[in-house]
Amino acid sequence: LSDSRIEENNVKELNQLSISYNKMLERLSDAFEIQRQFTANAAHELRTPLALMQVQLDLYNSTGHPGNDEDTLQTIRMITEQNDKLSRMVKALLDMSELETLGRDDRIIMDAIVEEALADLEPLAQKNKIKLSGKCGDVTMTGSDILIYRLVYNLVENAIKYNHEGGLVTVTVYQKEKRIYLSVEDTGSGIPEELRERVFDPFFRVDKSRSRELGGVGLGLALVREIVRVHDGSITIRSNPAGGTVFEVVFAQRSI
Ligand code: ADP
Repeated sequence: LSDSRIEENNVKELNQLSISYNKMLERLSDAFEIQRQFTANAAHELRTPLALMQVQLDLYNSTGHPGNDEDTLQTIRMITEQNDKLSRMVKALLDMSELETLGRDDRIIMDAIVEEALADLEPLAQKNKIKLSGKCGDVTMTGSDILIYRLVYNLVENAIKYNHEGGLVTVTVYQKEKRIYLSVEDTGSGIPEELRERVFDPFFRVDKSRSRELGGVGLGLALVREIVRVHDGSITIRSNPAGGTVFEVVFAQRSI
């Protein structure tokens, strides 16, 4: 075969490969879309009966029912707690399925987002005797401010929840060579190295009973990973030399 003939064949083959690769990608993205839609519909449907139960429980609890015995009150408390947990789970699933539909062109002032998340979590930190601090340079990025707030909030909330009494949580944001670095450091229990990938899986918990005790439903980091993904970033976990964990998120700076 002549050289030009070989080249022609190669180009043909490459074209065919690229067509089947594109078809595969299309099918994959269709499958993801069906799954996303299913999660969104299921979460929507579950939300209404849960909200109705919540209203009934709130009404019941607000009247006090002094005639009730301790057993009944205990049962009602348990139902209220579980209802609240289910509602949080459904909300997290809904948030996750709606992620793709949110715009991502806000100009985000990182300083303001970090300050807001830390202020909102200050009561939880005080309750757990944890000291929060933020070191944020003059950094702006393009993305969804609701989602970036949620990302910081979830990471800091975990850093408080899985910390020791008297512990520290430090949020640091800086920019270097067109990349934005956001890290959340804690002085808590740490995450065993072999489980660091799995903590991002929905419903995965290192210590189920501790997470349950702290009111966790196992979706916080799954949501964090999705938020990082839709912003084309990356997230890694490493040990804090001072004991505990560091979550580090890196975004490429993109202009509108
Ligand atoms: P949860 O609702 O259980 O907190 P997440 O998805 O937010 O769910 O986190 C998954 C699991 O990862 C937690 O149950 C906990 O075991 C572990 N984890 C998350 N953040 C930390 C942290 N900062 N330090 C130690 N363990 C953590």
